[in-house]
Amino acid sequence: MEAWDLETPGRRFGSAVVIGGSMAGLLSARVLADHFDKVTLVERDVRGEGPAARKGVPQGPHIHVLLDTGRRILDKYFPDLFEQLQVQGAELIDSSGDLAWHHFGVWKLRRTSGIPGLLCTRPLLEWNVLRRVKARPNVAVREGCSIEGLISDEKGTGRITGVRVKTPQGEESWEADLVVDASGRGSRMPQWLEAIGYARPEEEQVIVDLSYTTCLHEPPPHFQKEWKALFLYPSPPKAWRAGFISHVEGGRWLVTLNGYFGEHAPTEYAGFLEYARSLTRPDLYEYLKEATPIGPISQHKVKDCRWRHYEKLPRFPEGLVILGDAACAFNPLYGQGMSVAGLGAELLDTCLREQAERGELSGLAQRFRERLPEVIRLPWLLGTGMDLLYPQAVGKRPFGLGLLHWYILRLMERTSTDAHVHRQFYRILHLHAGLEAVLQPSVALPVLGHGVMSLLRPLKRLANTETRPPPL
Ligand SMILES: Cc1cc2nc3c(=O)[nH]c(=O)nc-3n(C[C@H](O)[C@H](O)[C@H](O)COP(=O)(O)OP(=O)(O)OC[C@H]3O[C@@H](n4cnc5c(N)ncnc54)[C@H](O)[C@@H]3O)c2cc1C
Repeated sequence: MEAWDLETPGRRFGSAVVIGGSMAGLLSARVLADHFDKVTLVERDVRGEGPAARKGVPQGPHIHVLLDTGRRILDKYFPDLFEQLQVQGAELIDSSGDLAWHHFGVWKLRRTSGIPGLLCTRPLLEWNVLRRVKARPNVAVREGCSIEGLISDEKGTGRITGVRVKTPQGEESWEADLVVDASGRGSRMPQWLEAIGYARPEEEQVIVDLSYTTCLHEPPPHFQKEWKALFLYPSPPKAWRAGFISHVEGGRWLVTLNGYFGEHAPTEYAGFLEYARSLTRPDLYEYLKEATPIGPISQHKVKDCRWRHYEKLPRFPEGLVILGDAACAFNPLYGQGMSVAGLGAELLDTCLREQAERGELSGLAQRFRERLPEVIRLPWLLGTGMDLLYPQAVGKRPFGLGLLHWYILRLMERTSTDAHVHRQFYRILHLHAGLEAVLQPSVALPVLGHGVMSLLRPLKRLANTETRPPPL
């Protein structure tokens, strides 16, 4: 089954199939191209030439934030990507200095963080990554095909040996030494596993009933470039509407309005504008009312964040890897999905290198699924930890959550005045560091001190609640 390519150092395995050609699938295909003779990436959508929104990625028209961990991984696997994106109008900004961010009731400090942030539309990013994956000589991209199930070894060795594919010509069976499921939130892997005799994974879920409503705008001609992006996050638990403006290629603004718990922004323009006016801060509306809408209003709803715990299944077949949103779909408001998809692909690379040293593919599926939680746990805790601040969010509330919430709120407030706390918060936000970054004494002491003071004084006397920090 495993064909050994002795000529190409590092490429040791036979064939791999990747299900889904979005960010997790593209990154996986790029990684697999270093290890397999032949990689087939299967995508249900047929994409035209050039960046465009598409059915299989309904989040495409909406604002996307790329955390620095995601940027690092994309840069590692596609070294010219960011340079070319900038040629096409994307911008790399300072993710603190160029951002005006009202969060948890306070304006965050604006300082030079040295952490780049990418501003562009999601289709532009994905299209550039796709082109680079397609350019790999051993990667074939099959669009307009849909994977419909798994094929397992008839001898009962517990190995996946291929996939069932619906192609425009009819149903086919394709053999593969490895199948990677990167088919996103809607992954049917639990059903497919069940169909070949395995159990469904346990699912952890937090219901947020969140909506994204987005429209492209022409900025007002007199806009002074006070910021490259303006984020008005909600202040849990009292407010659950949010709004974002981001510069994107073509000198345009991408404007997204969010609401938790079914409070969706209207999809006709007068209502969209009115919703912007209803945010707890007037800033976004003040800019928006001077801007010109230049596209349709798109809406997408996200019911929940969901982690499928494949690592807990008592039995799991060889030859199968599940990553990206198919394994864990986050609350998109925290901008973690693409970065965690990248971390999953990077982990796959590490595991495949270890397998190559062992000289076999056997054991990969078990090792990968056991280790994937290492990259999911922190972003999951951060995202769901914040969502569960809302009493309306439905999910399991672990013991001690109240204390954690008290600390998170005070930490966030402190990021408006304390450069060190702000720096450490950014490290954890961008997944550069774990919880220790915000629990170390140099952060905990000022945060606790602020907590004591907040019992005595109103927040507006302890933090910057009102004045949008000027550009650097
Ligand atoms: C509204 C919204 C906003 C978001 N904002 C951010 C953000 O700011 N930052 C961030 O990092 N992340 C964000 N995300 C998450 C991010 O888009 C995903 O985490 C990222 O795209 C990785 O997802 P994925 O590749 O695993 O799955 P997806 O992006 O969902 O892609 C799955 C792909 O698989 C294909 N497919 C599905 N089933 C099959 C099949 N049976 N056969 C063949 N192909 C199939 C689909 O057509 C699609 O192309 C957001 C998500 C949403 C919903």
